[in-house]
Amino acid sequence: RFICLEGIEGVGKSTHLNTVIAHLQARGITAVSTREPGGTVLGEAIRTLLLSQDFPPMHGDTELLLMFAARAEHLQRVILPHLAAGTWVVSDRFTDATYAYQGGGRGIAQTRITQLENWVQGTLRPDLTIVLDTQVSTGLSRAGKRGDSDRFEQETLEFFQRVSAAYQQRVAQDPARYLVVDASGTLDQVRHDLLTTLDAHPVL
Ligand code: C5P
Repeated sequence: RFICLEGIEGVGKSTHLNTVIAHLQARGITAVSTREPGGTVLGEAIRTLLLSQDFPPMHGDTELLLMFAARAEHLQRVILPHLAAGTWVVSDRFTDATYAYQGGGRGIAQTRITQLENWVQGTLRPDLTIVLDTQVSTGLSRAGKRGDSDRFEQETLEFFQRVSAAYQQRVAQDPARYLVVDASGTLDQVRHDLLTTLDAHPVL
């Protein structure tokens, strides 16, 4: 099974990714965690390029292609081999993030993203995508406290509102593939809600 975690900055994705992995392992499921952009040595190098603030502004098409270049490497070297071996893969972001950030945020047409999705992934789609959902202002103020700002964290409130709206639109188009969890409470509350809804989901 292939499970992804999504959401805007400051929703607690990394923490809850560990929660999901621990929960699956406690149920006797072999599961690995990974992330995008990244997940391989080359993919992490592409991530560094994507997040760097040391270059002149990157064109949206370049950003889109680098995301999919990192994804191709990740898919071929990590995700597909694990799935073929029967290991579950839980990824911190995947193609829904591209629809949200490069599509919603940067305004790239969905049809272009879909072309690359089909080309790079063939028929592979996540079995389940967990969307951690909170007010954009809440997420951004939490992320701001981390202080590890990157190129994307310099974006405006409106940018993240478009990102958040694009996630909601993705969920509305195919509700069965998503689990939306309210991430505005404390980490313990969110963990509880996440695990309760995950346990009730047919993917388990
Ligand atoms: O998941 P994480 O917050 O570590 O992602 C790093 C950065 O990359 C984030 O600021 C996110 O906004 C950005 N990103 C993006 N498009 C993607 C995936 C991540 O803009 N497809």
